Amino acid sequence: MPVYEYICKTCGEKNEFLESPGSPMPVKKCKKCGAIRLKRSISAFAYSPEVTLEDLGVKVVPRYDMRPKGPPPGGCPYEKAAKEEEEKKKKEKENPTFFL
Ligand SMILES: [Zn+2]
Repeated sequence: MPVYEYICKTCGEKNEFLESPGSPMPVKKCKKCGAIRLKRSISAFAYSPEVTLEDLGVKVVPRYDMRPKGPPPGGCPYEKAAKEEEEKKKKEKENPTFFL
């Protein structure tokens, strides 16, 4: 869980809060004066030009690489299967199979 630093706008106290993505944000209060006017401080670490994500062993995938590239060659396999199924049903209607 990431820890975020918040600076109290009233007294300047630094407050650290654990934040889990997905859970509703709890009301953050200054531990020193109880004010709720807190400003998230951007940690120097996250913006340090010396440390890149690759340095930390994180593989960075450019955003444009993550976009879906459309259906694979040969068309969408699901669409194809659905079409084949439809075709089969049509044929069955035209030439009903009789079990004699
Ligand atoms: Zn405060």
